[in-house]
Amino acid sequence: MFVQFLRANKLFNGEHFLPENTVLVLENNGTLKDIILDTETDVLNIKTLEGIITPGFVNAHCHLELSHLKSIIPTHTGLVEFAKQIIINRNKISKEEIFEYQQQADKNMYEAGIIAVGDICNTTDSFSTKQKSNIYYHNFIELLGLNPTNAITNFDKGLQLLNELKNTGLIGSLAPHAPYSTSNELINKIVDYNLKYINCSTIHNQESEEETKFFMGEKNDFEKLYQFLNLDISWFYAQKTTSLQYYYPFLKNQNTILVHNTVTTQQDIEFTNNQTTFWCFCPNANLYIENKLPNFKLFKNLQNNICFGTDSLASNWDLNLISEANVILKNTPTFNIETILKFMTLNGAKALTISDKFGSFIKGKNVGLNLISTNNNQLTFTKKIA
Ligand SMILES: [Zn+2]
Repeated sequence: MFVQFLRANKLFNGEHFLPENTVLVLENNGTLKDIILDTETDVLNIKTLEGIITPGFVNAHCHLELSHLKSIIPTHTGLVEFAKQIIINRNKISKEEIFEYQQQADKNMYEAGIIAVGDICNTTDSFSTKQKSNIYYHNFIELLGLNPTNAITNFDKGLQLLNELKNTGLIGSLAPHAPYSTSNELINKIVDYNLKYINCSTIHNQESEEETKFFMGEKNDFEKLYQFLNLDISWFYAQKTTSLQYYYPFLKNQNTILVHNTVTTQQDIEFTNNQTTFWCFCPNANLYIENKLPNFKLFKNLQNNICFGTDSLASNWDLNLISEANVILKNTPTFNIETILKFMTLNGAKALTISDKFGSFIKGKNVGLNLISTNNNQLTFTKKIA
């Protein structure tokens, strides 16, 4: 079989930069055959690229099924108004048009070097796009229901959608939407199920101050959302803790990706277990919705547990992991480029429990290879190599 010997100014293997004399041996179908030293082959065989070669990027949080809401919802509305706008706008166009937008978004992600995605599903809308996609999707079937008396009914609805997903040959697990929309009883059922099947889940965590206020029993905007949804929450009794500290014990030892973490505190972080918890940042979505970023400094010592997501096109200008990385590089000195690249690759793969397939240079696998460059502490995507 035809093989290619590739090197670049730098090779990033998912964890760190490799020594300068390292060469990748690639089969023509993109499979990584070997990693060798430049002395092990004739120098004339080696092609040298300008930039950094990395494994394909892993987008740990996306909602492909909201792709048709690009540019529909205004920026900086705050989370409650944003959620209302999603509900009002999501079914305004036909299923065929929704499908077209998803096809385009899936193609754009692949061309931007994304090889694997953790994607939220509330419906079957995105399944056919994913069946034909070049991207690997882990599908999170999202469950909602704040009233504990409905936990069984809501769980069964989710399970039905998960079975429909499995019937199409796609892979997934169950996930609670957010602490302010999912009861601990429902979270408990989801976790027990996942621990028996695929131990991987996610939850939108601490995305706004309003969420904290709701759980602290202070006046908050969520009341407006529940009014809009016609939900009676008079039975709800605030425990006067942050949301994370309220629901976290119910996650038990489920591998869970906590998404957003905009108002997470040091005390919250100390409350969690770093064997099973991944912190996923979607900085562009935070800027889009709340115009606020998490306090990245707090996460300084969690460099093995951080990954990135794009969220949806309803709350982002693009589904592009390089853009997310650049927001963080621009806004905090806490993480250097080598660490940021790890968040984009290996950590995302670990978070989705697919590090045997993606996120690093794995011999015998096509992990998707990207060529990027750096300038002024910002990343630029050059091209997809494999
Ligand atoms: Zn989301």
